[in-house]
Amino acid sequence: MNDLIKNSLNKLKQKNIYNPELDLRILLKHSSKKNNEIILSNFKIEDINIVKFKSLLQKRINRQPIAKIINNKSFWKNDFYVNNFVLDPRPETELIIEEALSIYKNKNLKLKILDIGTGSGCIAISLAKEFKNAFITAIDISKEAIEVAEKNLKIHNCNNNVQLKMVDFKNINTKFDLIVSNPPYLTNNQFHNADPEVKNFEPKLALIGGDDGLKFYREYSNNLQNLMHKYSNFVCEIGINQREYCEEIFKNSGLYINKIVKDLQGIERILSFSKI
Ligand code: GLN
Repeated sequence: MNDLIKNSLNKLKQKNIYNPELDLRILLKHSSKKNNEIILSNFKIEDINIVKFKSLLQKRINRQPIAKIINNKSFWKNDFYVNNFVLDPRPETELIIEEALSIYKNKNLKLKILDIGTGSGCIAISLAKEFKNAFITAIDISKEAIEVAEKNLKIHNCNNNVQLKMVDFKNINTKFDLIVSNPPYLTNNQFHNADPEVKNFEPKLALIGGDDGLKFYREYSNNLQNLMHKYSNFVCEIGINQREYCEEIFKNSGLYINKIVKDLQGIERILSFSKI
């Protein structure tokens, strides 16, 4: 194995980076003059822009997440532009799309959908691509996040059926068939104990849900009924061990938990509600 590879792998391993070989391949690919896939055991050093590679590697050594280094993260069926102002889309959040597809079997429905805290726009855009006739309102209180979502709307040609707004959901007063949200739900403690990739490179605003992480579920339980009609659904993501607390919070809210979906690690992750 080439010395550059050996040394780079060692540096990543010393920093306890979870998947050093994969990360190295991605960084090499992004430094490749031909932008081709790189095989660690067999590649030509002259195909790599070494200066660029070293700068990317240093970012990863500083625990910057790969997605933030290459400004790209895959979610559901597409790639999304990301930067430090939005959460990297995570695989467990794809369960929100899956749940929407399981609720509405007819993909041609003209659903009115609201995505609260859209961030990169990955949920709204993925739903727009699945439900071609839906009209989606995607909101966020972060101006920088709205700019990222705007960029993704352009990339994915969704300007016609996704409308972006910088507004708090409490200032919305129309009704929707489906409301989706991946709100901030970490406690302050969980945030401080999070990996450096999360703590240092992802927006606090998108991660912390007040002291106990449950702030947004309380707000949703107090307000979301007003944005729903009799047959509307609300699907949201929750954090580890928050299901019981959420059941308590939503008990007298007029919203009823229909379904609890576990993620691939067996963690209760998605709650699906309807109006009582
Ligand atoms: N799942 C994220 C994390 O653990 C948190 C996402 C969120 O707060 N919505 O970093």
